[in-house]
Amino acid sequence: MKKVTIYTTQSCGYCKMAKAFLAQNNIQYTERDIERDAQAREELIQRNINGVPVFFIGNELIVGFDKEKILALVDHRIATCPACQGKMRLPSDKGKLRVSCPNCKDTFEWTP
Ligand SMILES: [Zn+2]
Repeated sequence: MKKVTIYTTQSCGYCKMAKAFLAQNNIQYTERDIERDAQAREELIQRNINGVPVFFIGNELIVGFDKEKILALVDHRIATCPACQGKMRLPSDKGKLRVSCPNCKDTFEWTP
């Protein structure tokens, strides 16, 4: 499954909206604040990017908050186990799945 990373700053309104959007869509992501993370800032400078939010989804780069592109590229969603409420990352490109919870071993059906 592809890793999702979002580059942000504290003052960026679109970054807040983007993070809320990822959470609403049950997408697991890593956030890098370019004001605090000099290495993350350097990575964007090297690619001539001077605005946030920026998304890395696998090897793909999205500059700006483009919801449709994000949903098209992300290949996982976070599922919640109905028995123990544990969270797990599941592939969203395989349709309905029969899932065995790694925490409580309960099995349940899940649709992305
Ligand atoms: Zn469980």
